[in-house]
Amino acid sequence: MNCPSPRCGSSNVQLLSHYRDSLPPGSKLRDTYAEPAAAEGSYLLAVGLVILGIVAAASGTVLAGLAAIAAGLGWGAVIHRRVEDADRARAAWGNRRICLACTEQWTP
Ligand SMILES: [Zn+2]
Repeated sequence: MNCPSPRCGSSNVQLLSHYRDSLPPGSKLRDTYAEPAAAEGSYLLAVGLVILGIVAAASGTVLAGLAAIAAGLGWGAVIHRRVEDADRARAAWGNRRICLACTEQWTP
């Protein structure tokens, strides 16, 4: 595989993750080429809201309970989308190549 840059075309290409691992500790490029972070936030709050809503609805405060359930489901959907986006970014990073001659990056 050769560098896709029309001005380069070098065959000296490497997986970005391997290149990053080969950098010396403390190198600033380690941060530049780091793997994208995992998604922040957890499903715990969403599940907690739904449980709280069910308990509230069962104990008589039906409207507040339904509101809490809806909020919990909505928050769960938001978290789910964040996790999916982060997973996609991390998968793309794992497949990313870097040209050692011109530092061009691409995903084949
Ligand atoms: Zn190149």
